[in-house]
This record gives sequence, C-alpha cells and structure tokens, in this order.
Amino acid sequence: MEFRDLKSQYEELKDEIDAGIFEVIHSSHFISGMQVEQLEARLADYVGVKHCVTCANGTDALTLALMTWNIGAGDAVFVPDFTFFSSAEVVAYSGAYPVFVDVYEDTYNISVEDLERKIEETLKKGQYTPRVIVTVDLFGQPAEYPRLKAIAEKYGLLILEDSAQGFGGNIEGKKACSFGDIATTSFFPAKPLGCYGDGGAIFTDNDEWADYLRSLRIHGKGNGKYDNIRIGMNSRLDTLQAAILLPKLKAFQLKELQAVNKVACLYSELLRGYVGIPKICEGYVSSWAQYTIRLRDGALRRKVQDALKEQGIPTMVYYEKTMSQQKAFDGFGQNVNPIAGKLCNTVLSLPMHPYLNEEQIEMICKKLLNAVEGT
Ligand SMILES: *Cc1c(COP(=O)(O)O)cnc(C)c1O
Repeated sequence: MEFRDLKSQYEELKDEIDAGIFEVIHSSHFISGMQVEQLEARLADYVGVKHCVTCANGTDALTLALMTWNIGAGDAVFVPDFTFFSSAEVVAYSGAYPVFVDVYEDTYNISVEDLERKIEETLKKGQYTPRVIVTVDLFGQPAEYPRLKAIAEKYGLLILEDSAQGFGGNIEGKKACSFGDIATTSFFPAKPLGCYGDGGAIFTDNDEWADYLRSLRIHGKGNGKYDNIRIGMNSRLDTLQAAILLPKLKAFQLKELQAVNKVACLYSELLRGYVGIPKICEGYVSSWAQYTIRLRDGALRRKVQDALKEQGIPTMVYYEKTMSQQKAFDGFGQNVNPIAGKLCNTVLSLPMHPYLNEEQIEMICKKLLNAVEGT
C-alpha cells in the first residue's frame, strides 16, 4: 500500500499527461511556454482571485510574497508553531523575526486567542514591529479566516496564507488561496494538487503586487528580459510542469477532491471515539493533504505505527518537532507552545489519496484499532 498513490493517478490520466509532455518537448518551449499562462488563468479562475503567478516551488512563493511587502529586519511575523519548516524558514530568511504561535488541538490550525496574546506581547516589548500573520491551512483545512481577518484588521497586519496543503479547501464556498492578502500554494508531488517535480503559485487580487511578483520571479525584470529594475530571483514554473498540472487540475476538480472527502468521512466514521480525529469546522471543507489522528501518548503512537508497518501500511509523523524546537531557530530563543508540543508527540498521519478504496480504509482502521485496543 502507498501512503499517497501517485501511480494509480497517473494510470487514470496517462493519455492526457503523456500528450501534454509530448507537446512541450515538440514545441521546445521549455520555459514560459503557453501552458504556463493557461494554467495561471485556470488556477485564478478556480480559486476566484484576479491574479495567479506561478513560480518554482511553495517556499519561493512565500519568499516572493514577503519580498513584495518589503518584510525584513525589525519586523515581526507570526507563524504557527506546528507546521512544515518552510512557513517559518522564509521569515528568518527575509531577516524578520518569527513569533511562534500555538495551534488548536483538534483542527491543528493557528490559535486565534494565542495569536492575539503574542501580538500584544510583541507590541509591549517594542523590539519588533508586527507586520504579517502567516496563516497555514494545515493538512488541507483553511485556518479560521473570519476571526483571523478581524485580528489582522485590529492590529493593521497583512495575512500571508500558506496554502501549500490547502489548495481546494473552502469556507462556505469561498476557496483556499483567496483568503490571504497574498496566498501561496505548492505543487510538490504529494500535495493535494501536485506536479512531477517542484512547482508553486501565488494568488492575489492586488494588481500592483501581482506586477511586482511577475517581475521578482524573473530576476526583477522591467520592460524586457534584460532590463532589470530590482533584485529578484530565478523562480519560474517549468512549461513541462504546467502541462502536467493542466489535466491534473481537471481531475482534481471533477473527482479527486470529492474522493478524498469520501475517504476522510469513512476514516472518521470508523475511528470516532477510539482515537482523536481531525475536526472540520462548521461550513469548512478540507482538501485532506493529510488525514491525521491523535493517540494517547508517544508510546502508543510508536506501537501503532510499528503494528501498521508490519501489515504493510505506511504512516507518517507530521510533525515530529515544533518550529520552536528546530535547531535552526535556536537563535530566536522561544519556548515550545504547549499544544503544538503535545501534538508532535501524539499525531499520526494515515494513508490518504483519492484512489484509496473502502476495503483498504476498513482494513487500515481494523488493524489500527486492534493495535490501540491491545494496550
Ligand atoms: C510543502 C509546504 C511548503 C513548501 O512547499 P515546497 O513546494 O516544498 O517548497 C510550505 N508550507 C507548507 C505548510 C508546506 O506543507
């Protein structure tokens, strides 16, 4: 069994994907081919924002957004303590100071109460100026934007929505990647919408920022390719990856998003009451980048993981360390946030993809519950 079955997906979409790759090779437009523009138009349309600017990966997407807002030394950027490294790495890379915020135990997303506490603390200390909240749509579920936006407004902060895992989710129909002042996603193969290598995209309704981002991703270009008006990056999405993403986006819209929600529904039905299951807020839809459960403690997690491995069922621990526990952030001297710390010891992600069938899910749950009950 695969943790995320990319082979089955390829088998389903093979004709269209192969044709797309063939077309790019025959056109020789490997960089900035028309598939890139076509993909950007479709992504912007799907998400419901004015501009989509693709780039080389989800980490660059975040960096480009921070560059656009001129975030750097002296600025404080609020980031959940429980996320993938990139969300905070880009903040430190920009020269700004990341403030790690605790999360909710059942949704895994940033705690609005702790966020406000940390903003107040930062203001009181006066060393750094609060500028941005990086809201991560962790494991596929949008963060609590209605309340986050109120906080952002109250303190005059920008929202950078890190939706690397959230593409496809929504709140009452309004899609992920449309909540932040700027939003970003990743097309790393294992993400809800993945390509066959690295890729990323940035979304915004702001015309000025979109122009700036389009310049930054190609060496800060001005009127032409060899007219450079600012320091930028080399961060484009390959034409080949765009050609691969076009049929994948179609399949994502037509069936995959629905299919992962069915998988999650069955998992929750079978596991509810026995282990901690992910909570989806009222009116929210997740794109299920991960299906992540919570076990009583680290010892039980190890036992369950070993028992499943013995049966050929792969599981993963997202994440083993909080941001505050990462050696790379030692210099920021921050304490572990209690809920984030607890989650790192107790979470376990189960196989999750649109091509999991009912029998497989039932088998996984049966073996998992056997291991839990045998304690
Ligand atoms: C994957 C991921 C990223 C980075 O995306 P890459 O394309 O791998 O650079 C950023 N943030 C989160 C939350 C992620 O899961």
